[in-house]
Amino acid sequence: MERVFQRKLQVNQEYDVLVAGGGPSGCAAAIAAARDGAKTLLIEGTGALGGMATLGGVPAWCPFSDKEKVIYKGLAEKIFRLTCADAKHIASTDTDWVPIVPETLKRVLDALVTEAGADLLFGTHLSAVESADGNVDYVVLTNKDGLTAYKAKVYIDCTGDGDLAARAGAAFVNGDEENGDMQMATLCFTVANVDMYNFIYGESIYGGNQNSPIRAMLSSGRYPHVTDAHMCASLLGPGVVGFNAGHVQGLDGTDALSLTKGYIAGRKEARDIVDGLREFAPESFGNAFLTATASLMGVRETRRIIGDYVLTAEDYAARRSFPDEIGRCCYFIDMHSKGGSGENDKYPEYGAGESYGIPYRVLTPKGFGNLLTAGRAVSCDRRVLGSIRVMPPAMVTGEAAGAAAALAVQSANIDVHTVDTSVLRENLRKHGAYFI
Ligand SMILES: Cc1cc2nc3c(=O)[nH]c(=O)nc-3n(C[C@H](O)[C@H](O)[C@H](O)COP(=O)(O)OP(=O)(O)OC[C@H]3O[C@@H](n4cnc5c(N)ncnc54)[C@H](O)[C@@H]3O)c2cc1C
Repeated sequence: MERVFQRKLQVNQEYDVLVAGGGPSGCAAAIAAARDGAKTLLIEGTGALGGMATLGGVPAWCPFSDKEKVIYKGLAEKIFRLTCADAKHIASTDTDWVPIVPETLKRVLDALVTEAGADLLFGTHLSAVESADGNVDYVVLTNKDGLTAYKAKVYIDCTGDGDLAARAGAAFVNGDEENGDMQMATLCFTVANVDMYNFIYGESIYGGNQNSPIRAMLSSGRYPHVTDAHMCASLLGPGVVGFNAGHVQGLDGTDALSLTKGYIAGRKEARDIVDGLREFAPESFGNAFLTATASLMGVRETRRIIGDYVLTAEDYAARRSFPDEIGRCCYFIDMHSKGGSGENDKYPEYGAGESYGIPYRVLTPKGFGNLLTAGRAVSCDRRVLGSIRVMPPAMVTGEAAGAAAALAVQSANIDVHTVDTSVLRENLRKHGAYFI
């Protein structure tokens, strides 16, 4: 006979807004909600803020400019500039593919979140969600205190994987609608004791170059865990290079066992890549030392929550603007699909000054009055996910979701779908946001 386990939990009811996930989108959401007067709690499963930008080891920000001007303004630009400020190798004029110094970013985010007045809980996982009548009712959190239930007025899902929305019962698509394929993952890593002079001024090791050392590793047949030629690297500090290289294939970031196997595979691949660099790029990496693989798996694609609007690659191609847009995005469609760059090639990169609008409606999951999403899990098709998933637009959607949540809690009848977007846009513009 099936046994059922039940227990009573204390319910904490002190918050207006609960943000789940402290990555780029969640930090911006929590800062904006608290800044705009909402009593806000940010929960994060790990021990640091920043998500993929810190514990995920992604070594560079995608471009902040549309090749003419910075377009991810407001909190996104503030976080970016503060993080760059104490790195001697980053000029104040650098905006595109700028290295991320993770320890600086962690401290910047700690300061901005707490100074805005948001409360923060690390080591805290969203474990369960109760919903009723088109509203999220309670979330259950797990941490050192055990299990605690929280009842907030508005919830913002910034877990990247749409954990909160999916557990609430919101509609979503996980990967490819037809065959469940997902973009390949990468376990990023850092390498120390690199010869900086050669790394900076010698030949680029970028995997797109035909003579990249990763191609030599592949043709040698001696590095069995290296699966393809994906290799990007950025100088993080003296003698330390961060790598976004290699692919973990067939990983489902919403599946615990799949993630576990992925970490094991990723660590083998990182080791092989560093050994291969020592062999094929000895001027820079002859004495290099693999210091750490990331503690967060680099998951590029899981759930996309279905919202009031589904952004598409056709919107990307049309450089579409929207009356309710809360920001703009200019990053190209960058899908890491097994077997090549098929979809990417169909949607050419933008020219200077071009971008598309991000409508507020991609943040509002259908059927839930008190739930917003931001970051990687916003409502879009999987082609344009290849563009909107990166960190600068993730912070833009986070700031808008936080500001919208703060507006929603001020109304008697809380409903994120009826937030007055002209008021929201005016507020975001006041804080520096860029949109048409
Ligand atoms: C390998 C890889 C390379 C990339 N390269 C770049 C790049 O070069 N430049 C760039 O700008 N972007 C890059 N991106 C994209 C970008 O890093 C992410 O898409 C972006 O960080 C998404 O932001 P987010 O806030 O939605 O999610 P995340 O950064 O994933 O943050 C989610 C946070 O939520 C927490 N969390 C998740 N689930 C729970 C839960 N159930 N309970 C509590 N906490 C939870 C996580 O610990 C994490 O801190 C890359 C992504 C990957 C995977």
